[in-house]
Amino acid sequence: MPVAETTVVRVRVALGGTVQGVGFRPFVYRLARELELTGWVCNSSAGLVVEAEGAPARVDRFLERLEAEMPAAAVVLTRETAILAPAGFRNFEIRSSDEEASKIAGVLPDLATCPACLQELNDPSNRRYGYPFTNCTLCGPRYTIIDDIPYDRPRTTMRAFVMCPECQREYTDPADRRFHAQPNACPRCGPRLWVEEPGAGEPIEKAAHIIQTGGIVALKGIGGFQLLVDARQTDAVARLRGRKHREEKPLAVMMPTLEMVRAYCHVSGAEERLLTSRAAPIVLLRPNGGSGIAPNVAGSSPYLGVMLPYSPLHHLLMRECDFPIVATSGNLSDEPIATTNEEARARLGQIADLFVMHDRPIARPCDDSVARVVRGRESVMRRARGYAPLPVYVGRDLPAVLAVGGHLKNTVAIAAGRQVFLSQHVGDLDTPEARHAFERAIDDLCRLYCFRPEVVACDLHPDYASTRWAQSCGLSVVEIQHHQAHAAACAAENGIEGTYLGVSWDGTGYGIDGTVWGGEFFLADGAKFERIAHLRPFRLPGGEAAVREGWRSAASVQWAALGADAVGDRPERSVLLRMLERGINAPWTTSVGRLFDAVASMAGIAQESRFEGQAAMRLERQIGELATDESYSLPDGDWAPLIEAVHQDVTRGEPTARIAARFHNALANWIVSVAGRAGVPQVALSGGVFQNGYLVERATALLEARGFQVYTHQRVPPNDGGIALGQAVIAALRG
Ligand code: ZN
Ligand code: ZN
Ligand code: FE
Repeated sequence: MPVAETTVVRVRVALGGTVQGVGFRPFVYRLARELELTGWVCNSSAGLVVEAEGAPARVDRFLERLEAEMPAAAVVLTRETAILAPAGFRNFEIRSSDEEASKIAGVLPDLATCPACLQELNDPSNRRYGYPFTNCTLCGPRYTIIDDIPYDRPRTTMRAFVMCPECQREYTDPADRRFHAQPNACPRCGPRLWVEEPGAGEPIEKAAHIIQTGGIVALKGIGGFQLLVDARQTDAVARLRGRKHREEKPLAVMMPTLEMVRAYCHVSGAEERLLTSRAAPIVLLRPNGGSGIAPNVAGSSPYLGVMLPYSPLHHLLMRECDFPIVATSGNLSDEPIATTNEEARARLGQIADLFVMHDRPIARPCDDSVARVVRGRESVMRRARGYAPLPVYVGRDLPAVLAVGGHLKNTVAIAAGRQVFLSQHVGDLDTPEARHAFERAIDDLCRLYCFRPEVVACDLHPDYASTRWAQSCGLSVVEIQHHQAHAAACAAENGIEGTYLGVSWDGTGYGIDGTVWGGEFFLADGAKFERIAHLRPFRLPGGEAAVREGWRSAASVQWAALGADAVGDRPERSVLLRMLERGINAPWTTSVGRLFDAVASMAGIAQESRFEGQAAMRLERQIGELATDESYSLPDGDWAPLIEAVHQDVTRGEPTARIAARFHNALANWIVSVAGRAGVPQVALSGGVFQNGYLVERATALLEARGFQVYTHQRVPPNDGGIALGQAVIAALRG
């Protein structure tokens, strides 16, 4: 169905910092009117929200001037921009503030070191020269030091440090750039750094030396401990992986400068802005072939996760280590990040060769965030430090819903007024530690925002730890189907109104019919969902075991499409065939994630996955620079012809790059054909499968060429980290 091309775009900008009471709203109003844009501006709990709609060039101009010409007294500390579905505004107006939200204190995320503080840090004549806890009103920790609201020093973890006269003077002088900087500190009165080792020495030099000589350092950072190791030394990285029990997942690296990032990776303008933003996340970049990073850092990923130093401590360390270092969460496997010194000694004692500690307590864990640029826009994959607890503005009043998220990559959310506050990344709820962190995150959000939930939204899956918590919390519970929540999250953050096609693909989710879903198409509108298409179901022999062992999915589809002879010769072969023939311990699934596993296995790329999505990651990586429109056929989601073709290609010895590309293209073509039949112009792509850059870019390009409006995630993750937002919105709409 061809659709008229849109000539207007709507952009939503959320600004945090000192943006209220400084003439910001009239300034935005005048600017928008001058550029002939429609929309609105209003105050929000965290600052200010603007929506502007008009011709793309004018909107771009607006975004530039918003920053360049803002009122002199304004201080913008956080800025999140999202491109939304056009709303058809008639004029530009100043809206009254969100009543509900204005009662809520604006708690800001942790902010990367500002240029002025960095200069002081490097200036031998400054009293804060080399001081690892330097900060000011514009930078430093926020969310990770606040215990209670309002945000004031006695209610932060800085309360134990009594400011010296000099710091006190700065703190009370309205003209000083440290006026009311709650974490204000100096070497005389503030937190101290030390290394735990007999006969220690200068901590940063010592840490740098250990890293340089292949050792592992546990460093207490902003939101928890990090484990650091030289990213160039394969042995050292292998030792870290072994001790941390993280055999396969990609590791992120920190590099001292943007110049060094360019030496290793392709960096676009948008990627540079993301790397150097106040949030300073890990940015997933394409390696440029430059050598030097140990191959076991990125593992199976086609990307390298890179971040720049974001605290004075990291700046000082990276000045000593003028090379890339692995910087990963201080935990064992997928447990929560360690935040206290005692916890770190106990849990990381077997991993680290040296501890770099300090005495500024961390109020709550906050991992490094992960983001990337998709379609030229910022897209967050793990939302934590630098983003949490910024709200997602949803543009309609929601009742008091607490959403407890999924089971993996868990986050929780509260809906208050027109905003949804999303917790930082909590993690996989497999361990008692993680479940404890999950409960703490709920308490924390409710306490910080004085929030009393009336309804709790959870997943339909009865065995998720989050679902069990919801069922036993004593409040009324709304169960939301997993893939509907994915689609609703994407619709909510993109401001989609009316009917849209929700494409919801991931590894696993509990379906309404009790089978394992994961390749779903919904015709959706608000809280209404009609499942109009899905992947042809196949059996998962061994159930849960098939998630880790992709060869099981391969055996299943080969058995169905090609017969028992096609099932590879394995010791478990006869057991497997019996499961398939009799349907014992072999639940049905429509999961696209499992189809990725099957194809990866058949192509000889991955027989097992050490973490969800690993086989898919490897398959995407196989495509490399290959550009082709060739595709397998996947008529109406029936994988039988595709499996036959993959089998033939593998037998013929076709390069895996072509097999991988043909498979990805088949999936993109299927989306286009369902969209064509659905007859609605808006398409939302959500679910963990859409972390696949090739698939997102391909499907979007094909859909846009046919006139569809395509929406992908920007501020919340496409993976299960975004589920809580979708749950909150659906539960609110069902009311
Ligand atoms: Zn600063
Ligand atoms: Zn001081
Ligand atoms: Fe999911």
